[in-house]
Parts: sequence; structure tokens; C-alpha cells
Amino acid sequence: MTDSSQASRITFIGAGNMASAIFGGMLDSGYPAAAITATSRSQERLDAIAAQYPVNTTRDNLAAVAEADVVVLAVKPQMMRELCLSLREAVQARRPLIMSVAAGLEAATLEQWLGGELPVIRCMPNTPSLVGAGASGLYANARVDAAQRSLAGELLGAVGLVEWVEEEAQIDAVTAVAGSGPAYCFLFMESLEAAGIALGLAPESARRLALQTVYGAAKMARESEFEPAELRRRVTSPNGTTERAIQSFQDAELARIVAEAAEAAAERARELS
Ligand code: NAD
Repeated sequence: MTDSSQASRITFIGAGNMASAIFGGMLDSGYPAAAITATSRSQERLDAIAAQYPVNTTRDNLAAVAEADVVVLAVKPQMMRELCLSLREAVQARRPLIMSVAAGLEAATLEQWLGGELPVIRCMPNTPSLVGAGASGLYANARVDAAQRSLAGELLGAVGLVEWVEEEAQIDAVTAVAGSGPAYCFLFMESLEAAGIALGLAPESARRLALQTVYGAAKMARESEFEPAELRRRVTSPNGTTERAIQSFQDAELARIVAEAAEAAAERARELS
């Protein structure tokens, strides 16, 4: 629990899905609502936020920045340049920590659009953050101090796991593993569901079994003292059903297929930044 009079004041510019997931998680973990401000261009969106969360809301980005210790930029990447240019004077007057959750925008680019020489943290969260089970990669530029790093970890930590990377280019690898990763898992669920239907299960039943199996395996792997490879070996009895299936995956070179898919995602992330 953070004391509201001492808490860093955090402004979220762009109170959309990702921003509300993060401040919702912070409120759940005891961060004082009075220290959080959310802005949007849409009054309707702000009314919806105010009805659900006790945070401050305003359409005035500049006033919200003037008060902030941390500014979280949470608009779509294509809106970011125009937004940064509009905030430039207010940001340079206050010099808050800047955090961006926008995919593909380098810290130096944001710094330049905002007028230069600012502490910037680039975050790559993923969609399970919206249900409190995210996996985020964070990169801090050289102007970020230890207290700011710790606060940023607390922010993203409110919606899931946080991993720091030391090189900004590693954010592309985070994108390839965690950012795009949920879709790989959804694809696997779809395939398992289709396989179940092909084997004679009722469609709804196949879906429920596929989802619960992936969920249960992930929960078990997280909670176990053993690494996934060991858990796999432990459920693979010699000459059993699982061994036959695993052999089929290995014959099809599943590890190579996954590596190539992740490389393709990282390549695309590099093209976009
Ligand atoms: P969203 O569309 O839900 O939210 C964006 C919000 O910004 C909207 O409410 C919009 O009204 C507001 N906005 C736009 N311009 C503004 C301005 N000038 N001033 C104030 N508000 C403004 O989008 P989202 O899904 O929350 O994504 C936001 C950012 O998070 C994006 O950059 C995206 O790349 C990143 N991100 C999202 C996810 C995700 O799972 N949703 C995952 C990783 C990264």
C-alpha cells in the first residue's frame, strides 16, 4: 500500500483497454486512486472510466501532464507522433518519467518528438494483461533512475509478469515471444479442438477440453519446481499414448516451426520500428 500524499502522480494519456487494465491492476494492489489521472479525447470513454474506477479523469492532456511524475503514453502507435508534439512544452517544463506501451516506437524517437533528454521506459505488454495475467518486457534508457525503474516495475507488475531487457533491440524478441505469443497459444488450442472433433468429440466438448488442458498445463508448469521439459518427460511413459504423439510432433520438427515463426515476428517488429 502506498501513502496517497507520497505516491508518485501517474497520468495515463489515452484511457483505452491497456491503460485501464494497468491502472485497474494498480488500484487492486492498493495504489491510491487520487494519484492516478486518465485522459481521453472522448468524454463518453471518460464517463465510463469514472463510473468504474475512482481515478481522476480529464480531457485536458496538458493539465494532466503538468501535475505528473510519470506520464504513460497509451494511445495507438499511429497517433503517437501527433500526441507527443502536442505534449512537448508541458513535458519539457515538468520532465516526468515517460512510459510508452506503443509497439514498435523506439525510446529515442519518443524522446525526440517530446523535445529531447527525458527518462523513457518502453514497455511491451501483451493482451493477457487485460485479465491480470500479462507478460511484459521493459527497457529503460540511460536517463531512468533506480526509483523510476522500480515504480515502472510496480505499474506493469500490477497486470502480470515483468522482465527487464538491457538492450532495446531485445524488445523485438519480447514481442516475438510474449507480445505475439498468446496468438500462438490460441492457434494451438484451435488445432487441439479440431483434432478432438475429428476424433469424434462434440464440438463444444472438444473446445472446453482443449482450453482447460492448455490452461492446466500452463498453471502446472508455473507452479512446479520442474522445468517444462522435465514435466513432459514425466507424463511420457515408454511406449504410451503421449510418447506416440510427442514423436509425431518431433518428426514434424515442432521446435524448428516455432523458432521460424518467432523469427518472422521479430523481423516484422524490426521493420515496424
Ligand atoms: P485503445 O484504442 O483501447 O485506447 C487508446 C485510447 O487513446 C482511446 O480511448 C482513445 O480515445 C485515446 N486517445 C487517442 N488519442 C488521444 C489523445 N491525443 N489524447 C488522449 N487520448 C487519446 O487501445 P489499446 O488497446 O489500449 O492500446 C493502446 C496502446 O497499447 C497501443 O499503443 C498498443 O500498441 C499498446 N498495446 C496494447 C496491447 C493490448 O493488449 N491492447 C498490447 C500491447 C501493446
